[in-house]
Amino acid sequence: MTILVVGGAGYVGSHAARSLRHSGYKVVLYDNLSTGFRRLAQGFELVEGDIADEAKLRPVLASVDAVMHFAGHAYVGESVENPRKYFRNNVLGALSLLNSALDTGIRRFVFSSTCAVYGIPEQIPITEQAPREPVNPYGASKLFFENALEAYSRAYGLRSVRLRYFNAAGADERGEIGELHDPETHLIPLALAASTESGPELQIHGSDYATPDGTCIRDYIHVNDLADAHVRALQYLERGDEKDGGSLAINLGTGRGHSVLEVMQAVENVTGQSVRRKMGLRRPGDPPVLVADPAKAQTVLGWTAKRSLADIVSSAWTWMQKTSSGS
Ligand code: UDP
Repeated sequence: MTILVVGGAGYVGSHAARSLRHSGYKVVLYDNLSTGFRRLAQGFELVEGDIADEAKLRPVLASVDAVMHFAGHAYVGESVENPRKYFRNNVLGALSLLNSALDTGIRRFVFSSTCAVYGIPEQIPITEQAPREPVNPYGASKLFFENALEAYSRAYGLRSVRLRYFNAAGADERGEIGELHDPETHLIPLALAASTESGPELQIHGSDYATPDGTCIRDYIHVNDLADAHVRALQYLERGDEKDGGSLAINLGTGRGHSVLEVMQAVENVTGQSVRRKMGLRRPGDPPVLVADPAKAQTVLGWTAKRSLADIVSSAWTWMQKTSSGS
C-alpha cells in the first residue's frame, strides 16, 4: 500500500513518513519546499510541487492508495498579520488537493489538524466534543478544512481522520531528523538555544496568567508519538469502521500540562546550563491553558503518548547539537 505524504519535507510530515515506512508502507513525499527542507526528505522519493498544482498532483495521486496532508502554514502570529496567506494555502490549496484526491479515486485521508480549532476552551482537559471556536485565522483555516472533510465523507464517502495536535515537540530518537523551522518561534528549541552561550535570551510571553506560576500551560507531545498516531489512523481507515459518520476527529496530546517555567526547568535538567530569560508581555492569541483529553485516541486508535517532557527535551537537545555542529 502506497501513501502520499503531502508536506513530507516538514517537521511532523517527515517523522510520520519514517514511521509509515517502518510499519511496512511504501511512501511518496510531495512538498513545494516553501517551508519544508530537502534534508528532512532524504532517503525518500520526493515530488516537488504545490498542493494547488492539479496537473502535477493528479498522476502522483493516481499511483497511491491514501493521502496524509501536513502541508499547512502553522504560525498563529503570522496568520493574524497575513490571513490571506493562511486562507490561500490552508483552505484554497487544501481544497484543491482534496478535490484532486477525490477525483482520482482516493477514499482515505488523514489530516493534520490542531487544538487551535477549540479557541479558548471552557473546560480542561479538552475533549473532541468541545465547541470549535478558533480565535485566530490559523485555527479558522484548519476548522474550515475539517468541515470540508466531514461534508465530503457524508456526500462522497471519502473517509478521514482529523488529528488535532497539541504542542508537537522533540526529535526522532535515531538522530536523522528533528525540528526545523525558519523562523523558529517554538518554546523548546528557543529555550534550548537560550541555554547555550551563543543563543539569544528567551522571552517569556506573559507571567500574569491565572495559572499556578503565572505562565501558560501546554500539552507537549513528542513528534514520534504523533507519527505513531498517524500510522494507527491509517490502520483505522483500512479497517473500514464507520464510526463518526466516516470522518473522525481525534485529540493527540498526553493529557498532562506543563507551564513555560516547567519547560525551562526541564531544559536546564538536560543541558546542565541555566536558560537565560527575560519576562515579556503576553503574545496575542495565546490561550492560558491547553491540555488534551486523549481518551478517544486510546479507545478508537489504541494510542497513548509514550514519551515524557524529559524525553522530548533530551531528543530535541541531541538534534540541536547535531544540527549546530553541521552534521
Ligand atoms: N513561549 C514563550 N516564549 C517564546 C515562545 C513561546 O514564552 O519565545 C510560550 C508561548 O506563549 C506558549 C508556549 O510557550 O504559552 C508554547 O508556545 P509555542 O510557540 O511553542 O507553541 P504554541 O502554543 O504557540 O503552538
